[in-house]
Amino acid sequence: MDRRIAVIGGGAAGMMAAVQAARRGAEVTIYERNDRVGKKILSTGNGKCNFSNELMGADYYYGSGKALIDTIYKRFGIAETKKFFEELGMRIKDRNGYLYPASEQASTVLDVLRYELERLQVRIHTEQKVSSIVHKQDTMIVETTEHKKQKYDAVILACGGKAAPKTGSDGTGFNLAKKLGHRIVPAVPALTALRCEEDFYKRVAGVRCDAKITLQIDGHPVNSERGELQWTDYGISGIPVFQLSREAAYALRDGRDVTVKINLLPDFDKDSENVGITNSTSYEEFWAARWAKQGQQTMEQFVTGVVNKKIGLLFLKLSGIKETETAERISQQCRKKLETLFCSFTVMVRETNSFDQAQVCAGGIDCHEVSEVLESRIIPGLFFVGEILDIDGICGGYNLQWAWSSGSVAGRAAAER
Ligand SMILES: Cc1cc2nc3c(=O)[nH]c(=O)nc-3n(C[C@H](O)[C@H](O)[C@H](O)COP(=O)(O)OP(=O)(O)OC[C@H]3O[C@@H](n4cnc5c(N)ncnc54)[C@H](O)[C@@H]3O)c2cc1C
Repeated sequence: MDRRIAVIGGGAAGMMAAVQAARRGAEVTIYERNDRVGKKILSTGNGKCNFSNELMGADYYYGSGKALIDTIYKRFGIAETKKFFEELGMRIKDRNGYLYPASEQASTVLDVLRYELERLQVRIHTEQKVSSIVHKQDTMIVETTEHKKQKYDAVILACGGKAAPKTGSDGTGFNLAKKLGHRIVPAVPALTALRCEEDFYKRVAGVRCDAKITLQIDGHPVNSERGELQWTDYGISGIPVFQLSREAAYALRDGRDVTVKINLLPDFDKDSENVGITNSTSYEEFWAARWAKQGQQTMEQFVTGVVNKKIGLLFLKLSGIKETETAERISQQCRKKLETLFCSFTVMVRETNSFDQAQVCAGGIDCHEVSEVLESRIIPGLFFVGEILDIDGICGGYNLQWAWSSGSVAGRAAAER
C-alpha cells in the first residue's frame, strides 16, 4: 500500500511538500483551514511574488535553523527551485538577482502549484482546521475541529507562523507541535515597521529617502542597513527598517532600550559601500562650504536641497532655528546641532508593528529538535516545513526559498522513509 501522508497547511511550504511526496508515490492529503490553498502567496512581493534570490546562503537567515540552511539547500536549492517552476511552465524574471515569475503575477506561482497538485491527485480538504495530532505506535491520527479523524503514516506540519494571520497562519501550528512535545522559540513579528516615541511623525509622513540606519540596543550599535527609508505617521518603515525589525522585536521583548540612528547623508560615510558623487568632500567640508556660500539665505532656503525639504524643516525646528533666520547669523553651536542631525538623528523605538502587518514570524519550532531532513527527533514520522520552524530570512525572496527547499526535502523524506 502507498504511504499515506497528511500535510497540515496549504501554504507555499505545504504545497511544495505535497507535490514532492506525491511525485514519490505517496498518497497525500492537504488540510487547509481557509477556503482555498496558497492565500499568502498572492500577497507576496506586492502581488508579484519575489519567490527566490540568486544570492543565497545561511548568512541571510536567522534562528536556530540557520545551521540547517546549507544542508537543506544542497539537497534542494535555487537551481532546483528554478528548474521545478520552469518545468511547470512558469517563465522566470531575474531583477538584479531577485527572482519573480515573468508574468509578474503571484497568482502564476500559486496556479502552477495547484495544477501540479491536481495532476498528482493530491486530496485537498479546504475549510478543515486540524485541532489535534496523536502519535500511536507507527501511526499518526489527525483530527479536525469538526471531529473528523484519519490515520496516516506520516504528517508534515506546514501551518506557518503567526505573521499575517488573515491569510490563515495564526500560530495554531505551534500548539499542535507543543502538544507533541516540541519546544517553541518565542515568536515575534519580523520584516515589519517600527513604531516610535517622537511626536513629529505626522509632519514627515510619506517622505522616502536614502539613508543608512543603525539599530542600537541599550545604546550599542548592533546592525546597520542602507536603503530607502520611509517615514510614516507613527515611525519608520521601508526595506532597511524591515531588515532590522526582528532584532528590534526580540530586544523590546526583553525590555531593552531600542533606538535607531539615522544617517541621511550616507554618501559621506567612510564605511559606505554606495559612495555617491559627494565622496571627495568630507562631511565637515560640505557644511563649511554651504555656510560660506549660502550665508545670505534664509534657513529655509539653506536647508532646501540637502535632503527632502520636510526633513530639513523638521531638523531646523529640532535645532531651535527659525526658518526665516539668515544663515550667517546662526551660532556655531546651532550649526553643529543641525549638521549632526543630518548624519546622526536618533529615534526611540516603542514597539514593532504587530503580526498583522509583519511579513514573517521569527521564532517557532526549535530546529535543534529536527533532523537534517526536518523530521522530528521526538516523534518519528512527523516533519516540519516552512515558517513554522524557528528560521526566518531577510527581505528578498529568502522566506519563500526556505518554504520551497524545506518543503521539498521533507516531502521527499516523508514519502521515502
Ligand atoms: C505581505 C507579505 C509579503 C511577502 N512577500 C514575500 C516575498 O516577496 N518573498 C518571500 O520570500 N517571502 C515573502 N513573504 C513571506 C512568505 O510569504 C512566507 O514566509 C511563506 O509564504 C511561508 O510559507 P508557509 O507555507 O510556511 O506558511 P503560510 O504561507 O503561512 O501557510 C500556512 C498555511 O497553513 C494553514 N493553517 C494554519 N493552521 C492550520 C490548521 N490548524 N489546520 C489547517 N490549516 C492550517 C494556513 O491557513 C495557511 O494557508 C511575504 C509575506 C507577507 C505576509
